[in-house]
Amino acid sequence: MKRAKVRLFVDHPLGAGQTVPLDRDQANYLFNVMRMGVGDAVAVFNGRDGEWLTEVSAVSKRSGVLTCTAQSASQMDPPDLWLIFAPIKKARTDFIVEKATEMGARRILPVQTDFTNSERVRVDRLQAHCVEAAEQCGGTFVPEVADLRPLDKVLASWPEGRNLMFCDEALVGGSAGLPENATGPWAILIGPEGGFSDAERARLRALDFARPVALGPRILRADTAAVAAMTLWQDRLGDWR
Ligand code: SAM
Repeated sequence: MKRAKVRLFVDHPLGAGQTVPLDRDQANYLFNVMRMGVGDAVAVFNGRDGEWLTEVSAVSKRSGVLTCTAQSASQMDPPDLWLIFAPIKKARTDFIVEKATEMGARRILPVQTDFTNSERVRVDRLQAHCVEAAEQCGGTFVPEVADLRPLDKVLASWPEGRNLMFCDEALVGGSAGLPENATGPWAILIGPEGGFSDAERARLRALDFARPVALGPRILRADTAAVAAMTLWQDRLGDWR
């Protein structure tokens, strides 16, 4: 089997002999940037059918076609973990989304909290970051980025049975508080640079599905906290065990 030096997300069904049309950007990347041509190997995934090895079977100026030859990895979905976070500065928000994909979040939900500065997020841009992160980390799954919603509304429509790991900076220095062997779906909540308001903290602590958690003896920046929380969760309850 030829080894592929390029890995690409494609929004198209994959299977033996299946042809995959390339859009303009993909064709430009493969044929102009990477200087590939007919017969070259490209690994592709679509978030559903695992990873497939393909060969370039047609090249044109603004498009091209790949043909699937063999499956090179089966589909691997991450555990049912959501990352809920309050958007911060653009580059740091991009970092959170990229790391959430690498760390194995199933869904990413930006929320407005009392101290969130950012009024809007570009979901399409964040989604593109998820695709790029999945392409480079060898994953076969791309998490969905939801629209920005107020934290209140997200909590009011909370799904039955999902636990919430509420990362509460007021607990700094305490023990982690994450149970061992708690099964079922989870979500991690990370606050903004200003942290949670007293009213939010009181509300969150009163929820029976929320587990307040400390992330060590120092206050972490929100982007660091997101990675630390996902690491802790994956190690205790997720797919690192
Ligand atoms: N301005 C807040 C303060 O000084 O207390 C700090 C907010 S922190 C930069 C951003 C978010 O990261 C927090 O809302 C919390 O979700 C998470 N976080 C940071 N350090 C933490 C810790 N040691 N324990 C739990 N959560 C933490």
